[in-house]
Amino acid sequence: MCIRDRLDPALLRPGRFDKVVQVDMPDMKAREEILKVHARKVRMAQDVDLKVIAKTTPMFSGAELEALINEAALTAVAREKDSVDMECLEDARDKVRWGRQRKSRMMEDEEKKLTAYHEAGHAICSYHLPAVDKLHKVTIIPRGPAGGMTMLMPKKDVRLVNRQRVLAEITLGLGGRAAEEVFFDDMTSGASSDIQRATELARMMVCEWGMSERVGPVRYGITQRNVYLGADFVGRTEFSDETARIIDEEVQRIVSECYEKAKEIITEHREQTELIAEALMRFEVLDAEEVETLFREKSIEALARARGRKGEVGGSGQSGDSSQHTRHAQ
Ligand code: ZN
Repeated sequence: MCIRDRLDPALLRPGRFDKVVQVDMPDMKAREEILKVHARKVRMAQDVDLKVIAKTTPMFSGAELEALINEAALTAVAREKDSVDMECLEDARDKVRWGRQRKSRMMEDEEKKLTAYHEAGHAICSYHLPAVDKLHKVTIIPRGPAGGMTMLMPKKDVRLVNRQRVLAEITLGLGGRAAEEVFFDDMTSGASSDIQRATELARMMVCEWGMSERVGPVRYGITQRNVYLGADFVGRTEFSDETARIIDEEVQRIVSECYEKAKEIITEHREQTELIAEALMRFEVLDAEEVETLFREKSIEALARARGRKGEVGGSGQSGDSSQHTRHAQ
C-alpha cells in the first residue's frame, strides 16, 4: 500500500499526471555528505568518523541528520565537553532514532538481514527469468511503508503481455518470499503486497486473458483490479459456484508453480543470492553494474574496491526518478 493506492482512481487516469516522482531517502554516501555539511557548524573532536555515523543511520532523512548533529552538540555541552566526540554522536543518533521511530519501522539487524535476503530473492530471479525486464537497482533503504525494493528497467512500454511474461512476473514477485523460505526456513508478513500482486496477475490470466487451458478463453467478469494503477472495479459475478471453484484452483495452481520456480532459481543460484544479500547489508543500494561485479568477482571486498574507485571519479550512479521502474515493495 502506498499513497498512490489511496488516491481517487479518477485522478490516476492516463492524462492526469504525466509523471510520478518518488523521493528516495538519502543513501549512505549522501548521508555522509549531509552530516559533513551540518558538522561544519560545530566543533568536532579528533576521533569523529562521520562515515560510521552515516553507515548506522539508514532511513534517516536530511532533516533528521541535521537534528542528530544539533542533538550531539547539546549533549556535548551538557557533558561539559569542549567538542563533539563519537560518544555524543552515537547517543544523539539513538535519541533521534528511538524518539522518532515507531516500533514497526525499526530496522534491527535481524530485520535488515531479512529485507536484504528478500530483495536479493527478487533480484536473482530478474537475472534468471529472460522474459522480465533487466534489473536497474536493488535497495534495502525503506521508502514509505516498503522495507526495500527491487526496480527493473523496462525496455519499452508494454501494451500486450504474453503468457510467458506474466508467469515470469509472478515468479519474480514471489522471489522475495521464496528467499525467506530458502535461507531462513521462515516467512515474514513483509511479502504481503508481493503476494497480493502475484495473485491478482494469476487471476487476470485465468479470468481476463483466457490464459488457462482448463478454464478456456472465456472472460469471467469478477472483481477486477487494475494492477498497474491500484484501482478496484467491482463487476458482477455471472458464473456458477463450480466455475468459481475451478477458477480458484487455477489461480492457486499458477501461483504455487511460480513460487516453486522462484525457489528453484534461488536454490540453484544460492551463492549469487547470498552475495547480493550480504552486499546489500553492507552498501544498502546496488545498481545492475555492481551486481554484475559481484557475480564476476565473487567477492564483496572486490565490489568495495570498485565502489571506491567510482567514488573518486565522482557520481554515485543514482537516479532520482524511479517512476519508470517496476517496483516490488517488500
Ligand atoms: Zn518483495
